[in-house]
Amino acid sequence: MSFTTDVRGELARVRTEDICCARSELASALLASGGIAWRGRNRYALSVTATDAATVRRFFGMLKRHWGITGQIRALSGDALNRMTRYQLAVPEGDALRLLEECKLLDEAGLFGLRQIPGEEITRFACCKKAFVRAAFLMCGAVNNPERDYSIEIVAPTEEYARHVAECLNYYGLEPRVSQRKTRFVAYLKRAEDISDMLSLLGAGAAVLALENIRVRKEVSNHVNRQMNFDQSNINRVVDAAGAMIADIRYIDSELGLEKLPKSLREMAYARANNPETSLSGLGELLDPPIGKSGVNARLRRLTDIANKLRSGEEIRLRGEREDKAVPPDN
Ligand SMILES: [Zn+2]
Repeated sequence: MSFTTDVRGELARVRTEDICCARSELASALLASGGIAWRGRNRYALSVTATDAATVRRFFGMLKRHWGITGQIRALSGDALNRMTRYQLAVPEGDALRLLEECKLLDEAGLFGLRQIPGEEITRFACCKKAFVRAAFLMCGAVNNPERDYSIEIVAPTEEYARHVAECLNYYGLEPRVSQRKTRFVAYLKRAEDISDMLSLLGAGAAVLALENIRVRKEVSNHVNRQMNFDQSNINRVVDAAGAMIADIRYIDSELGLEKLPKSLREMAYARANNPETSLSGLGELLDPPIGKSGVNARLRRLTDIANKLRSGEEIRLRGEREDKAVPPDN
């Protein structure tokens, strides 16, 4: 089952107690599912069509509870274009005008006597704004599986409807973007925390928990990956620096011979050449007696200096080179 199906299943079970919210949901569902058909002056056929039976049953129950209307549910078998079975709730024709009036969807001046979005009293209350968006999601919403990426959207039939959904969400501090996709208009959010907020205001608590769990797991694994990359790049840095140093040591060996170096430098050169991945303080511990990081640094710098002088043909004075005194580890 997809995440969208889970969320719809959960939203279909949210109870709408107040008639204000029932009006808002019904208006939203009728508009989103293209369920208003004009049959002549003041005559309409109303229906709510959805891909899952639970959604249709939700509206069946709502009609019964709030208006005493018994709708009719039927399954529409899929066609060649869309094989999915859909479910339709048809409103008895005699009740259609009354429901359109309740939902504030009538307008003398509008096309076929209808409004594109319901009169403003329908979504005046905060609870009804949620209800409008909840029905929008049930009819034409989708949310990506958060394991893949973060996205929630309402794929609306008209721009007015998509903008109205966005306005309802604006009230709650969410700012979905609206854009056209072929003949539809999409209101969408892409940030995980916005998706979480939207699901929670619609009443999909279980989906919010699932999303948050995945989010935490992903953040932890991102952190671990970043840490591993960081460790690897540190090792790479050590190896790169050691590589240049080892080249210097080889050069000294071929031009001068390591055996000509004073004992302290010779031992340092062997330690470095044989342990390219060891850090400076680690190298110091390999020596006998051990020396600190600054001592290691000083000896390596001296080796580099000798190699550079050999390359430029400068004279090197090794005779009389002071034997470094053993320095205790400084860390
Ligand atoms: Zn309400």
